[in-house]
Order: sequence, then structure tokens, then C-alpha cells
Amino acid sequence: MIVAIISMAGNWNVNIKKEHNDQEAANYEIDRDDENDLPFACFICRESFQNPVVTKCKHYFCEKCALQHYKKTKRCFVCSEQTFGVFNPAKDIIKRMKDQKNKSDEKVKADEEVDDT
Ligand SMILES: [Zn+2]
Ligand SMILES: [Zn+2]
Repeated sequence: MIVAIISMAGNWNVNIKKEHNDQEAANYEIDRDDENDLPFACFICRESFQNPVVTKCKHYFCEKCALQHYKKTKRCFVCSEQTFGVFNPAKDIIKRMKDQKNKSDEKVKADEEVDDT
């Protein structure tokens, strides 16, 4: 019977290099914050939104632009998805517009309060 004891010395220098790039990958988080992805202008008229609406495919248009385009084709202006004529009020955009308005209002108010003292 042959018993081969290879690691007799027990002195193998096993250098297992950890190839973990998890940390690096974590730096590339994409599209996590949807709110920051909101467009600032209508894709069709390139103006700020008038009565913003959102399609099922999450594209934003003015209500009138969406309807005008819908008369020509039922497909989304941006991605050509079928819209089925569904245009919901773009709550995110409306909220953002309100927030921005509130912020500027608050600033004006704060300035007035400073003047009082
Ligand atoms: Zn528009
Ligand atoms: Zn679309």
C-alpha cells in the first residue's frame, strides 16, 4: 500500500486571491431614484409641461401634446409603445412643480420676515 503524503511539510503557500469586485459594482447604482429622472420638458413641444400626463410606458407629455399625437398614432411618441389612449395625470411632475413653487414662496416669505425685525 502506497500512502503518498504530499504536504508533509505543511508549508504550502496557498495564496487565494479574492476576486471580489462587489464593492466596485455597488458604486454603479443606476436608476435608483426615479424622482430625479423626471423630465423637465415635454418630449413633443419641448416646453415645460402644461397639464402633464404620463403614459403607461412612463413617458411624460403635456395633455394637449399627448392628445394631438394620439390623433395621429396610438403609439407613444418616445418609445412607440402602445398607449391604449391611457394618459394619467403625471402626479410626480405635478408634485414637483408644486414643490418648486412652494420653495420659492417660502423663500419670499422668509425674506419678508427678516425685513420685519
Ligand atoms: Zn408638450
Ligand atoms: Zn413611451
